[in-house]
Amino acid sequence: MDSTDDIIGRVRDLQRAASPLEPDAPSRQALFEAVGAHAEDFLKRLETARAFECDPGPAAEMARRRPAEGPGALDELLRLFRVSVEDTGVKAASGGHVAYIPGGGLYTAALGDFLAAVTNEYAGVRFAGPGAVEMENLLLRWMADLVGYPAGAQGNLASGGSISNLIAMVTAREAHGLRCADVPKAVVYLTGQAHHSLEKALRIAGLGECVLHRVPTDTCQRMAPAALQEAITRDRSSGLRPWLVLAAAGSTDVGAIDPLEQIGKIAAAERLWFHIDAAYGGFFVLCPQGRERLRGLELSDSLVMDPHKSLFLPYGLGAVLIRDGATLARAHQYRADYMQDAVADSPAPDSPADLSPELSKHFRGPRLWLPLLLHGLAPFRACLEEKLLLTRYFHERVRVLGFEVGPEPELTVSTYRWVPKHGDPDAFNAALVRAIHRDGRVFVSSTRIGGHIFLRLAVLHFRTHLETIDLTLQVLAEKVAQLESAGAN
Ligand SMILES: *Cc1c(COP(=O)(O)O)cnc(C)c1O
Repeated sequence: MDSTDDIIGRVRDLQRAASPLEPDAPSRQALFEAVGAHAEDFLKRLETARAFECDPGPAAEMARRRPAEGPGALDELLRLFRVSVEDTGVKAASGGHVAYIPGGGLYTAALGDFLAAVTNEYAGVRFAGPGAVEMENLLLRWMADLVGYPAGAQGNLASGGSISNLIAMVTAREAHGLRCADVPKAVVYLTGQAHHSLEKALRIAGLGECVLHRVPTDTCQRMAPAALQEAITRDRSSGLRPWLVLAAAGSTDVGAIDPLEQIGKIAAAERLWFHIDAAYGGFFVLCPQGRERLRGLELSDSLVMDPHKSLFLPYGLGAVLIRDGATLARAHQYRADYMQDAVADSPAPDSPADLSPELSKHFRGPRLWLPLLLHGLAPFRACLEEKLLLTRYFHERVRVLGFEVGPEPELTVSTYRWVPKHGDPDAFNAALVRAIHRDGRVFVSSTRIGGHIFLRLAVLHFRTHLETIDLTLQVLAEKVAQLESAGAN
């Protein structure tokens, strides 16, 4: 290819060949309607669908359909999506999902994602996307106000709680000037309830060789402040360097809230970085009962809360907040020549690229901004309070059914187990979980408390209502009766 005429001819051909990437307006309308209708069908089927499909078989069809040179048919692809993706595994969009920590899937958040993707605004740097950055910072400021952080706080909208915890650990490391040589003597205080993503974050951050000091808990699995104080004093006198305390505001396992005010006082007096993992529990500050239980959030140096848990968003949004925003920037800000036009004049960095590991990133703001501003806060507050009350209702009813129950729920996790007339309780409760999974109408999970298997009910999905809880109780009663009569024979 030597003349520019040749080049022009070739690029015209290529432009035509690439043109399917830009459907015209009527085609876009048709695509939008087809996908919208598919989503409607999904939501309609969800009302009667099982919360768990334990047969993963149909998922394999996905692996057989590789990208080809030629086009596919949308209806065929949507069918494949339905049978392989929607109809297998855990229905995260179902109110019957009362296991682990449920997510959500607000429809208006999906519309926010749609807008984010179509506009593809560059949300990493203020110069490129001033409105996008304003939106994300507005949401972070709103959260900082919710937890009582001061004006200098900053944060980041990350993909979830794990990455948010990682950002906080890196910031804490830099703020305290920990160097490699310091790591083996640096002590991290946490309880057995700490989410595993924290230990994972420490390892990724080069802090895997820190001393992990497990602080004893009370009977409700909350950190015992006196034991924390004692541990710090002992470690200091033996030449170690107490550095970081990790508290849970709603542990994943049982929903335990560590005594934040007391821990905060100790951390301040001992000059430890105080991190609160409120990935699950944080947004309960939106309702009075939760706010009361979460007193002390404002004493932390860093905090994680997940809108894709307790604000009912689809997966893909966690938030990290850092009380002293400058420490977040010091841990993450870099400069490059090819970015010189984008460098802000503002004294304090406030672009996500300066405050997180990411540069180009998903414009995560609209998936939260649209639901919050469109619906207003009142329905969110109501939904969270409904979940608190449904959990209390379940806990009481399941006890009346004859189950042994764990501690009174502080948030929305209830633990319980059946103690059978004969045989091993652990074997019985393991069988009970399996039977509920095979049934699939509701999806519960299990854990171990004091070495014994307990079932968990985690009420957090916005589609979980009184009927769901009654159905769960009914399924439990049915399965216990079946297992007891099978055991008696
Ligand atoms: C879910 C959870 C995490 C991890 O968050 P992801 O969004 O799943 O990465 C961390 N801590 C707690 C307490 C959680 O419940």
